[in-house]
Amino acid sequence: MLVQVALPVPLYRVFDYSLPAEMSALPNASIPKIGTRVEVSFGRQTLIGIVIAHIPEADSSVPLNKIKPINKCLDADPILDDSMLKLAYWLARYYHYPLGDVLAVILPSLVRQGKPLDLLITHWRILPHVTDDDFRANAKKQKQQFDMLKLHGERGASEDILLLEGMQREFLKTLEDKGLIERYIESKQAPSPVKLAKMPLDLNAEQQRAVDAIIAAHEAKRYTGILLNGITGSGKTEVYLQAMQAVLEAGKQVLILVPEIGLTPQTRARFASRFAAHIVLLHSGMNNTHRLQGWQDCRTGHAQIIIGTRSALLYSFADLGLIVVDEAHDGSYKQQDTLRYHAADVALYRGFQHNIPVVLGTATPSLEHLKLVDEGKLVEYQLLTRPGNANPATMQLIDARLQSTHQQTTDDGARYDTGLTDALIGAIRQTLEAGDQVLIFLNRRGYAPVLLCKACGWQADCPRCDAHLTVHYNNQAQHSHSYLKCHHCDWQAYIPAACPDCGSQNLDAKGMGTTRLSENLHAIFANPQTSKDLYPIIQIDRDTTRLKNSWENIYQRINEGKPAILVGTQMVAKGHHFPNVTLVCLPNADRGFLSADFRSPEHTAQLMVQVAGRAGRGDKAGRVLIQTLQPDNELLLKLVKDGYLSFARELLQERKIMGLPPYSYAALIRCEGKTMAATTQALKDAIELLPTAHNLAVLGPIDAPMSKKNSRYHAQVLLLAKDRQQLHRILNQWWQPAIALPSAKYLKLTLDIDPIGW
Ligand code: ADP
Ligand code: ZN
Ligand code: ZN
Repeated sequence: MLVQVALPVPLYRVFDYSLPAEMSALPNASIPKIGTRVEVSFGRQTLIGIVIAHIPEADSSVPLNKIKPINKCLDADPILDDSMLKLAYWLARYYHYPLGDVLAVILPSLVRQGKPLDLLITHWRILPHVTDDDFRANAKKQKQQFDMLKLHGERGASEDILLLEGMQREFLKTLEDKGLIERYIESKQAPSPVKLAKMPLDLNAEQQRAVDAIIAAHEAKRYTGILLNGITGSGKTEVYLQAMQAVLEAGKQVLILVPEIGLTPQTRARFASRFAAHIVLLHSGMNNTHRLQGWQDCRTGHAQIIIGTRSALLYSFADLGLIVVDEAHDGSYKQQDTLRYHAADVALYRGFQHNIPVVLGTATPSLEHLKLVDEGKLVEYQLLTRPGNANPATMQLIDARLQSTHQQTTDDGARYDTGLTDALIGAIRQTLEAGDQVLIFLNRRGYAPVLLCKACGWQADCPRCDAHLTVHYNNQAQHSHSYLKCHHCDWQAYIPAACPDCGSQNLDAKGMGTTRLSENLHAIFANPQTSKDLYPIIQIDRDTTRLKNSWENIYQRINEGKPAILVGTQMVAKGHHFPNVTLVCLPNADRGFLSADFRSPEHTAQLMVQVAGRAGRGDKAGRVLIQTLQPDNELLLKLVKDGYLSFARELLQERKIMGLPPYSYAALIRCEGKTMAATTQALKDAIELLPTAHNLAVLGPIDAPMSKKNSRYHAQVLLLAKDRQQLHRILNQWWQPAIALPSAKYLKLTLDIDPIGW
């Protein structure tokens, strides 16, 4: 008897190992089970792999005297059950990725390293008799650390959480020595049944239909893919919550996927206020111990509600009853390196595996999902109204060609362009004077996207990337501490005093980022006498929210509800509630309609609708103003007049006529190396190996969109096929020989199935 082991090596095969003599002498039961971890020698390394099959010695393709015994078996029982192994096989097949590497993506790193699964996590709690009086007045620091632990109540908290919160290890020790706190290991009890913490809302008819459909599928134990297509503010979350209730009451687990880690705390609060349940958050910011604990909670059934980002879908679950993918159109559901899976697709696969409903919720369904509705593979439920008084915001265009943009004069008399039309400024002023808040969306952080020499046209470019450097100011008020920064590789430089090409000092920051826009708004909306701000201008982007708690502070200021101008990048587009925002301005968001990428209109419209959805979510009606230089762009007009759905339907029709995805199937091959010549050559050689097939379009090799990034060069080839099976048949034959070609030797070749951009 031999065991077949999947190892974390980039080879498309599994490896045969024998059993050590003492193990083969034992009865069958002690042979490492399928789905357990084993430690083996591999060349000169020691690796940990997963047993995926038992085979008779005669079936091995390796001569018996070459087969080594496994070193040891790490688990008595499988850590991956049959359904997880099936998932791994499916991922390996569909994404053409080595099985051992798929398993390495699926398993938390401590599990991969062979650590025991039962984590003994140290917790700390305050001893029952201890009070504030036990501290001497001068023991301030100790008292402060004690108070941090006190916030966690009777059960205290785990050590790593406390350290994360800023507690210091030496103080834990000191407090312990003084007999004030104690350490303990939390014992895991079976979770108590989920209870309602708050009564559900009365659903409207649209919501009720969707909830009924989900519950019916749950009760019938039937896989059903549901597209919950509801405008922003239509109450999709209430649908999730009421469907979840039935599933949780049946003792099953619910998995909720959200696009970004920043959204998880708020999302958690919404679910925690409805259900008294054990809620587990899974996201990429967790340390290894927490990840392992989360993984264990899911597979033992301890976790009842699981809220996570993309990778949560690859966890094992004891008894999963429902998967919800919130904002299912979001690009962050597609993994962009290693195993390039799409979480919405994997969610549907897992739903199918477990015979459970999968809900894809969104206000702006992707064209892929609309096509699945057409094919009957997803059932669509629409929510077209907002509950209560709130009406969906109306969208309006402002023609920036007719309206001159507002000019402002600096102290020394120079005039500059604010990039905002008078019509837009008028509407902002009106909104603020009515006591409401304004949100201005600009998807570009920093001061300006380009530094330009006005004398010779030189532009400051990143030496490592195919990109301009962005102008930043550390001290925005005084324009001091200015620097240039590459947003792709983080390279930084000082702003030169003169042009390095012609020596002219006439250097100019061109274009507008959020910092510059905020500055212009300060100038426009300040009190003309005192030049003090009449309204706070709150900038929300990666730069202003980088520090711990800064986002919470900003959020609090906004939620005070006083009139204010919010200037934000796409960070503000998702999930946040700003009930007092009644006007949303998009000064140049329509540019995406001109891009060469055929997907750009879809993604631009999704973003515009998401941002627009921030307006008028309270009781007040909202308004959205789109400032554009192309007011007769047909797509833009369609979106504004008829809404996202008819816009998307029209795009889908266009794609059909052009034979573009989702009406054809794409595989993107990228090659990365030290020179462009080498990367292109490797791709050329690879294409030579492709079988000739009609219906397969081979586009390239061409330079990748950002061909130079971080001093590495990227080229690409796109394969487009009419038939999905045909594409995969070709890839099965072609991909492994292609990456084994001599010219590919020192290069990185990657394959992206169903890429979302190229
Ligand atoms: P979406 O996720 O679709 O953008 P939300 O779920 O955030 O919308 O709902 C928007 C608001 O409407 C929330 O404040 C929610 O509490 C409220 N709401 C949802 N359903 C109902 C209902 N049936 N009756 C009253 N209010 C509702
Ligand atoms: Zn110059
Ligand atoms: Zn760079």
